[in-house]
Amino acid sequence: MLHIGCHLSSSDGFLAMGNTALSIEADTFQFFTRNPRGSKAKAIDEEDAKALMELMKVHRFPVILAHAPYTLNPCSATEKTREFARLTMEDDLKRMKFTPGQLYNFHPGSHTGQGAEKGIEEIAALLNELLKPEQTTTVLLETMAGKGSEVGRTFEELAAILKKVKLQEKMGVCLDTCHIWDGGYDIVNDLEGVVEQFDRIIGLDRLKAIHLNDSLNGCGSHKDRHACIGAGKIGLEALTGVINHPRLKHLPFFLETPNDLEGYKKEIALLRGRYTE
Ligand code: FE
Ligand code: FE
Ligand code: ZN
Repeated sequence: MLHIGCHLSSSDGFLAMGNTALSIEADTFQFFTRNPRGSKAKAIDEEDAKALMELMKVHRFPVILAHAPYTLNPCSATEKTREFARLTMEDDLKRMKFTPGQLYNFHPGSHTGQGAEKGIEEIAALLNELLKPEQTTTVLLETMAGKGSEVGRTFEELAAILKKVKLQEKMGVCLDTCHIWDGGYDIVNDLEGVVEQFDRIIGLDRLKAIHLNDSLNGCGSHKDRHACIGAGKIGLEALTGVINHPRLKHLPFFLETPNDLEGYKKEIALLRGRYTE
């Protein structure tokens, strides 16, 4: 069974997202914990969160994925920006308690001139401060395209962060196909080699989710411009290979392609049709 969904707007609340997912034949979804540019999040409606958990049980959603705002940067050279990252992630993790056992994904950040090593240290320090033994949320580092001074472009950088985190079992990785392709991992000509590298450097047991996106640009371009499935440089064949890879096919896949709901519904149907049980 292919577990697939897309990014949904969280403005109408949890249960509404669950129902929207069902309406496009998805069995999972991703949402922003708050405005993607940051800012205050509105209060959690506990009953609404419970209603979604019930819907997920009835309709067998494997897990859902919350995404931190893009502005969250725990390794900025600017102290104020790091402080914003700390406060935001702390608050997000509190909010995640209302939807227990789910995934929370964030961009490791941009070191803005401090160097990757310093960045890695600061990201791990924040996680060591905020992760709690009793938490049921799994926190994911997203693989990045390597725009500007982004940390997490290479599997080595992600592994270095993970290695420094004490509560290892609370951590995982979300692999974005557009980002790793733009980052220089050739999933078109050598998916097997890329999966093997991921396993050797990070460990496939750490991989908890996949952002399934095509890319407007070439391998190694470091651009991070998503394209619709089959409309980019990765292409439908390679992405079909990703969802059917024996070591990836059980994972939840999240579309972050430039689509409206109707477009997402079509992509989900297209990929379900190409999935082999
Ligand atoms: Fe992301
Ligand atoms: Fe992504
Ligand atoms: Zn992206």
